[in-house]
Amino acid sequence: MRQGIIAIDGPAASGKSSTARAVAEALGFGHLDSGALYRAITHVALDEAARAGVENPLALPLDAVLRSAEDRGLMLQPDGAGFACYLDGAPADAELRTAAVTSHVSAVSAVPVVREWVNAKLRELARAGVGVVVDGRDIGTVVFPDADLKVFLTATPEARARRRLEQRGAVVDPGELALEAERLALRDRADASRAVAPLRRAHDAVEVDTTSLSFSGQVERIVIAARRALAD
Ligand code: C5P
Repeated sequence: MRQGIIAIDGPAASGKSSTARAVAEALGFGHLDSGALYRAITHVALDEAARAGVENPLALPLDAVLRSAEDRGLMLQPDGAGFACYLDGAPADAELRTAAVTSHVSAVSAVPVVREWVNAKLRELARAGVGVVVDGRDIGTVVFPDADLKVFLTATPEARARRRLEQRGAVVDPGELALEAERLALRDRADASRAVAPLRRAHDAVEVDTTSLSFSGQVERIVIAARRALAD
């Protein structure tokens, strides 16, 4: 099997990142989580906004925010078997998943200069020649339109909301489920309706509906498709 690029796109909480990580591990590839870069930029933008005493990070010039992100060393860096999102010299994770970051990330990531910055980083990492599994919203449509395999992961809003709540260790009752499904739908609408690189399935992507698949089942399907696509 040769090295290559596997693109995994899909709506919020469809399981892209955990699936991409497991697929990358099975193939011996690196996993690039593009959402983590958008979240980290949003986190930096919120810090800058707090410093400037403004509420909306979009009120700031985002090229200055990107410079600040670079100064703080924002990058996906090799870490163990994969890549981790580094900021301020350490892997960042919990700070990228706060409610504040999640509620601002769609607006920040709709700004073209932000997308250009992230895309350049992803392409630079993929050029290093190692195989990569990249997950996001526009990986198969915009960032790597020539990817060796494109997957579009979906699941019903109810299944996605349930998984997100379980992941957080939150109570899964009908009220919470309905609220979380609404939050996810709001983010998906913002991501799918923006002018630049909207969330959509590439015409040549394989759609995998994970609603009634087990995690190992969905990983296995993608690994098999990837091995086939990358067979010498
Ligand atoms: O994948 P995750 O939910 O962490 O992504 C957070 C947000 O980053 C998305 O809701 C979307 O606004 C943005 N994103 C994007 N393009 C990508 C990956 C993420 O616009 N390729």
